[in-house]
Amino acid sequence: MTWPPDKGPLPRSLVPLESESLFGLLLRLAYRLDESPLRVARRTGAIRPPGSRGTYAAATKLLLRLDPPQLQTFARSTRITTEQAENLTLLPLSILYPPLADALTRRARPPWLRFDSTRYCPACLAGNGSPIQNRYGGAWRLHWHLPFVFACLEHHTYLRDSCPACVVPPMRLTPGSGAIIPAQGTVGLHPAQCRAATPLAEKRICGARLDKPHDYPAQPFPDLTPDIAAIQQELLDLLQSPDPAHARTRFTDLSVLTTVIAAAWPRHPHLPGREELLDAFHAHHDKDLMLTEGREPQI
Ligand SMILES: [Zn+2]
Ligand SMILES: [Zn+2]
Repeated sequence: MTWPPDKGPLPRSLVPLESESLFGLLLRLAYRLDESPLRVARRTGAIRPPGSRGTYAAATKLLLRLDPPQLQTFARSTRITTEQAENLTLLPLSILYPPLADALTRRARPPWLRFDSTRYCPACLAGNGSPIQNRYGGAWRLHWHLPFVFACLEHHTYLRDSCPACVVPPMRLTPGSGAIIPAQGTVGLHPAQCRAATPLAEKRICGARLDKPHDYPAQPFPDLTPDIAAIQQELLDLLQSPDPAHARTRFTDLSVLTTVIAAAWPRHPHLPGREELLDAFHAHHDKDLMLTEGREPQI
């Protein structure tokens, strides 16, 4: 049997939002069609059926690229162009960001990429107030999977990496589960609902609305200062760079520098920089250590 099977267009679809990921579009389509994300992913050819072999793990592949036959089937099924479908993946950025180019040629889990989880901006998930976004939510953005993207400049806030209710990364995949989306077989969850299993009841899904953080007790969250926002803008500008060689060199330099600083930790007294940057790095390092040791970080 040829794969992916072409089952024709979905009865209803959605136009991709600006910088939306394939993962995000699947969540919105599933909610619109009252189907599970897994069923929509199979129906549109976005993932292979169980037991078939692919070059990458399904979740990685959803973010990285679709093979040409998949791209055609997905575009036809969702009634969008192949260019729109390709822009839902990180493939177009691979000429600018070297870890993506590496990921396309290696089967190992790519470093400097965030494939098994994502950060998010609550206001982006809430949408822009249009009727369609009020109904099906805003965009889960593709660049939230890139580790150097830490803030939403449109809403002037740091990205969140955990749910305000259960304090767990809301879209984190269990390693080795083969899942593409947490709770992927569940029908009826809004795209902005946390899909983490609650710690006390493995089978229960948290379900908190990530786009309504004010529904939960306020947690201390630092303000995004103009200096830090400028750094984020500079990094985002590299993704629009007309000079791919320049962008690749900058990203490579920054990853080497970050590795050196992390390796030298905590010997940083002479590290030049603003106090708030050092504090942020300290907090990040502590959190990373907790995750490595299997402890849940407290925000
Ligand atoms: Zn935002
Ligand atoms: Zn939650």
